[in-house]
Amino acid sequence: MSILVQKFGGSSLATVEQLRRVAGRVAAAHRAQRPVVVVVSARGRTTDVLLELTQALNTRPQAREIDQLLSTGESSSAAQLAMALDELGVPAASLTGCQVGIRVSGPHGAGRIDRIDASRVRALLRKGFVPVVSGFQGVNDDGDVVTLGRGGSDTTAVALAAELGAERCEIYTDVDGVFTADPRVVPTARMLPSVDCRMMAEMARSGAKVLHYRSVELASSREVEVYIRNSSKSDPGTVLVRKGGAPVESRGTIVAVTHDADTVEISIFSDQVDSVLLPEVLDRLADVGIETDLFAMTSDGERHAVRFTVTHSGLSHTRAVLAASDLASSYTMCVDETLGKVSLIGSHPAANPAHSARMLRTLAAAGIRAVSVYTAPMQISVLAGGSDGRATRFGVWCGESQE
Ligand code: ASP
Ligand code: MG
Repeated sequence: MSILVQKFGGSSLATVEQLRRVAGRVAAAHRAQRPVVVVVSARGRTTDVLLELTQALNTRPQAREIDQLLSTGESSSAAQLAMALDELGVPAASLTGCQVGIRVSGPHGAGRIDRIDASRVRALLRKGFVPVVSGFQGVNDDGDVVTLGRGGSDTTAVALAAELGAERCEIYTDVDGVFTADPRVVPTARMLPSVDCRMMAEMARSGAKVLHYRSVELASSREVEVYIRNSSKSDPGTVLVRKGGAPVESRGTIVAVTHDADTVEISIFSDQVDSVLLPEVLDRLADVGIETDLFAMTSDGERHAVRFTVTHSGLSHTRAVLAASDLASSYTMCVDETLGKVSLIGSHPAANPAHSARMLRTLAAAGIRAVSVYTAPMQISVLAGGSDGRATRFGVWCGESQE
């Protein structure tokens, strides 16, 4: 019978009661004679607490040690769920990313899954066990644990589902599915019964926390059927669809509004006339795996400026790389940590100038300063002042507009 992968997020495992309920759900699938593989996140706020601990112990904690520590959150969660399953009479075995054979490359904190040797998971399934896999982690060629980036357990689940040829991958969380805006911020946001994978990838990339964006890209490229469901309900949730859903001629339409407060703008100014310096600086960032988001370059012929955004966790890394660079004397750098990003996601939303107009008007009415606007085929993004949650108020617009 075809395999079912169920992934449970930290919010679904926060209390012992919730953990038992999750065990009950897995047990029901197991008793229905289905081979089930479970992937778990760290319970509740565990990852945040561990990160706070690293800061308390060391002002510049080593990336390897951070990964060693953070990965224990998922490993501990998996062992606990396996125990709860056993208590219900379901044979279960917890496995770390390393024990599963999730091979990862790339920097600590931002690993990429290269391959999975799922033979151990398959062997457990054949014996009638439920493998409970620690999400968010893998092992590199040195035998060290490398984590996949915040929210990465979703990516573990979809990658494992792809490797196992699973019939479906269910991602359980504390909301009913994918909404037109974050329902915790925008009470009037609507749930979407289905979302196009490309649209979902764009939403996840732009700050929608419901799914790790790399999991969506994997779902699309490896053709995994993904459902996002509420762990305390039996509702069907949202299904990711690879084709269809939207009308063929949907240019200019909006699907959702997302916001991302984890945005830092870095501006680099230089009066070097040649175009060597700035690409050189960007290459150095790329060499150490720093991901940039919004990117713009302007020049008046004499003075050149490059602006890009990184995450708060990427900031110290970026600073270190740029300061250590032998080019440092050739430019000046400004960092703005007070901005947030708000995005309209849809099919070429910039094609309809009314969307941009409404976006700017709404921000202004809320007293939020729009700093710059970026457009791309599937989004209009505004970098705006007041990332302390004020930018998120902009999401209200979405809930209202979708009525
Ligand atoms: N526990 C990790 C985090 O909080 C990974 C995850 O939840 O997917 O980011
Ligand atoms: Mg998550």
